[in-house]
Amino acid sequence: MSDHPLRIGVDLGGTKIEAIALDPGGAERARRRVATPRGDYAATVEAVAQLVEELEAAIGARGTVGVGIPGALSPATGLVKNANSTWLIGHALDRDLESRLGRAVRLANDANCFALSEATDGAGRGARVVFGVIAGTGTGGGIAVDGRVLVGPNAVAGEWGHNPLPWPRDEERPGPVCYCGHSGCIETFCSGTGLALDHRTVTGRDWRGEQIVAAAAEGDEGAAEAVARYVDRLARGLAAVINLLDPDIIVLGGGMSNGDRLYAELPLIWQPWVFSDRVDTKLAKAVHGDSSGVRGAAWLWPRDAAGG
Ligand SMILES: [Zn+2]
Repeated sequence: MSDHPLRIGVDLGGTKIEAIALDPGGAERARRRVATPRGDYAATVEAVAQLVEELEAAIGARGTVGVGIPGALSPATGLVKNANSTWLIGHALDRDLESRLGRAVRLANDANCFALSEATDGAGRGARVVFGVIAGTGTGGGIAVDGRVLVGPNAVAGEWGHNPLPWPRDEERPGPVCYCGHSGCIETFCSGTGLALDHRTVTGRDWRGEQIVAAAAEGDEGAAEAVARYVDRLARGLAAVINLLDPDIIVLGGGMSNGDRLYAELPLIWQPWVFSDRVDTKLAKAVHGDSSGVRGAAWLWPRDAAGG
């Protein structure tokens, strides 16, 4: 596995599988995408392997392979768990890909891949500790330390969305029911889905999260109030992260990360909740946008380990 000119990253999502080939400098050499064979595990393994082979055939070189999944490999069993693509659960996806592709394959949670991408050559480049947040349909989190993903013995490091919303106000208790079985999880408030629910409850309008953010920017009162509540909740959620992890930078991605307002307001609102006289934590939007997941999967084989 030495002297690879290529790093191949695969983002295995619920609706599409995307694969990218990066050169050692991080430049994109090629990209492929197919629909995910939903519900069919064997076909999913084959689709991932074929994408890898197509990229290699297009470039004429062999690469390392990293795969980001919407779940995690259980350290206890070595099998996929916590995946909303439920047909992956209970399978040794890394080993099955390894035997199909004839080489070592690294697997990681997609939010961890996001954090790793931004830590490697994105908004968190050069930072020691990067906390990455993907706020879209759900709210995922991942941690990169010194350019490596932090996994943990339970493979849940950074799974911040299923902690309770910190310092809840009376009207935020008990909070919306979450699919994880609890109520009032950060994800039920700080995802686009959560913003849509809150906005609908108050205004009766059935709008999507991004729509509400856009309407708020245009001066719509009901939307602006919902976004203000959203920003206040996200600020409290991130203050708790700062108190626990004290990351150098927090990078936001996903559909809710657009809009300059977040980056101006969040640090002002989180300040009083952080147990420090001043807060120097940086906040930035993801540099690689929707490509952060697939790029981070490629960087599961880091630059300085390329010869290993
Ligand atoms: Zn939850």
